[in-house]
Amino acid sequence: MLSLEQQLQDAAELMQRAKRIVALTGAGISTESGIPDFRSPGSIWLQQPPVSFHDFISKPEARQRYWQSRRNLSAQVTAAQPNAAHLALAELERKQLLQAIITQNFDGLHHDAGNNAERIIELHGTSRAAACTLCGKRSSIKELQQRIDAGEIDPGCPDCGGFLKSATILFGQRVPEAELTRARELAAECDLFLVVGSSLKVTPAATLPRIALKNNVPLIIINLQPTPLDDYADVVIHEKAGVVLPPLVASL
Ligand code: NAD
Repeated sequence: MLSLEQQLQDAAELMQRAKRIVALTGAGISTESGIPDFRSPGSIWLQQPPVSFHDFISKPEARQRYWQSRRNLSAQVTAAQPNAAHLALAELERKQLLQAIITQNFDGLHHDAGNNAERIIELHGTSRAAACTLCGKRSSIKELQQRIDAGEIDPGCPDCGGFLKSATILFGQRVPEAELTRARELAAECDLFLVVGSSLKVTPAATLPRIALKNNVPLIIINLQPTPLDDYADVVIHEKAGVVLPPLVASL
């Protein structure tokens, strides 16, 4: 097995040849900021499966469960600050080497780290806004949470009457078409695809590195646990993103 030093050197060599890097980030990049991921051993989903979109729409008890679990997660997200891995990706953009970040995260930490909002594609939405599940109109999550905390049951959209929830994507809910189209284009057109902190088990995000591979784009995976694409990647580093990314970006 290669040493971390050797892996870092291999990754740096690939990155030095790139000018249009696209990063795909998942929950793993934010664990060092205190937000747990959903798939690591001992994670929250193993204790309580997530509410699906269909259940949220059709079952009052699922909506109650959704708001309960959101309360815990949103406290962690509100307290979180960007960590060394987020900051390294912001530095990569300042070095004019980063084309875009496609993120599965809804925590807004790439924005806080200083990446340009126009270069951040939030595939699974954001927990910093509320959205109608029917017409998609966005509104204030703070106000919505206050209404829920005050005991209101099922606040509806003033425009169409659809159920309101945070502007994040639940299982079974469609990923926004515009974001997905742009993400697919970026994966095909970049000159290096970098996966950070994603199990690559959630589609359609997990299909993006496959698009890159199909277009002969080099692939680097930085993830604590193995992913289904490890054997296809040019470099795989099973280490914390906050340990790997800062020296890697500093070497460019
Ligand atoms: P995941 O939970 O499927 O996988 C996370 C991966 O990150 C794991 O394979 C784990 O080994 C790895 N990991 C954990 N800590 C790491 C670290 N410090 N450095 C490197 N790797 C690390 O995450 P996912 O693939 O993003 O999918 C879960 C879904 O849940 C996402 O789609 C996302 O929408 C949502 N989610 C978001 C947040 C957030 O916004 N911070 C948090 C939890 C879940």
